[in-house]
Amino acid sequence: MTGRLSATFASLLVWVLVACSSPAAAPAVATNTTVTPDAATAPTDRTATAPSAAPGRGGGPPPPATLPPRPIPPPAATVSPAGPVDTDRVVAHVRMLAVDIGIRSAGTDAERRAADYIASVLASQGYTTTVEPFTFDMRYDESAVKVGDLQVRGLLLQGAAGGTASGVLLDSGNGAVEQIPADARGRVLLMRRGGLSFGQKVANAQQAGAAAVVVVNTEPGAFRGTLGDQRASIPAVAVAGDQADRLAAAIGQQATVTAAAGSRTVTSQNVVGRRGAACRAYIGAHYDSVPEGPGANDNATGTGTMLELARVRATDGLCAVAFGSEEVGLRGSQAFVGQHLAGGARFMLNFDMTGRIDDAMIVGDPGLTQSILGIIGSGADQPLRAGAFPANASSDHVSFSAVGVPAVTITSGDDPNIHTAQDTFEAVRPADLRTMLTHGDAALAGLLKTLGAR
Ligand SMILES: [Zn+2]
Repeated sequence: MTGRLSATFASLLVWVLVACSSPAAAPAVATNTTVTPDAATAPTDRTATAPSAAPGRGGGPPPPATLPPRPIPPPAATVSPAGPVDTDRVVAHVRMLAVDIGIRSAGTDAERRAADYIASVLASQGYTTTVEPFTFDMRYDESAVKVGDLQVRGLLLQGAAGGTASGVLLDSGNGAVEQIPADARGRVLLMRRGGLSFGQKVANAQQAGAAAVVVVNTEPGAFRGTLGDQRASIPAVAVAGDQADRLAAAIGQQATVTAAAGSRTVTSQNVVGRRGAACRAYIGAHYDSVPEGPGANDNATGTGTMLELARVRATDGLCAVAFGSEEVGLRGSQAFVGQHLAGGARFMLNFDMTGRIDDAMIVGDPGLTQSILGIIGSGADQPLRAGAFPANASSDHVSFSAVGVPAVTITSGDDPNIHTAQDTFEAVRPADLRTMLTHGDAALAGLLKTLGAR
């Protein structure tokens, strides 16, 4: 049944975990190509750096550092009376997060504004609410190639120099010595991937006095490469094959190559709403987006769903947590379980993408999944099944599973828009949102009965 997941879904979810900002954790594009001369010549020189261990599977990044929590003032408004779930409220949350705030990627001011909004909602719903900051080191790669109005995203070839260099863009074939024009000095050399190792390509360019190197993939999409043992004194970046034609059309124009990659300390935050003395069960959702788009389905919808369930199912012992920085490796949920004794909780219900039904699934703890399926039933008009994410894909329930809490993610499944500029408010389907909200409400109501709380 997991075979129904499309390749797009699989690759995008992988991108969630490993590709947004971390060169060391990039998808190894090189591995899914057929053998190319790059590999034949020098396998180590073309091998993208190894993906890091998937979060929650051990070997992940160290627990994020913590900062003092920031309490939210008591609500000015009166507490909303609970009632039936209201899809319109979820839609309003999605609009606020994806339209009014928009792109809210890890560690940005917009992410913090989204956290403040969520905190205000939870406070207005009668929760004792805190914004809990945490810090972590985030890899970034802001490399780029600019020619006139054309701006192409690049990825630093590991081992090349950082910095910016400019020169006339010159076609240099695959970078072999005989294909590098005689007037290469001070120029930016455009090379095709393949034929010889990245290290050799860049060495040849440097030998010819070139200012910088741009290596274009031979297939769509970006790749990360390394010069292997070599070090270069000029910037060298890789760009997606989709850009090949546009760059070829810019031959002869002045180009600027920026190679800028590294890591920086980022501050993000979780928003925690508490009822009663201790958290004995959790509902959660990540509220950050990728930098490429406003993250309406991924995951303003899950956040809105979680907020609405927090409103109608407020129960002593049920805590609602909105996680920051999920898209760069489950950072928020990892910080949360590191900061709190979440291990004793009865369950954790996470929502990630609930606005466009493709193949609605429960992913995670088998026992909890079966409990929920038993609660919801199997009405053909509202299908929901036990499913799984593709390898290397995940969501915040995994951080709770890792500390022994039965945890699942409820998701509406595949969406080709996620992690693109097309993941917009307009693309979310309110009818699907309503179905997923109803599922979530039924599941939570059923599970809360087992909590032994009022
Ligand atoms: Zn997500």
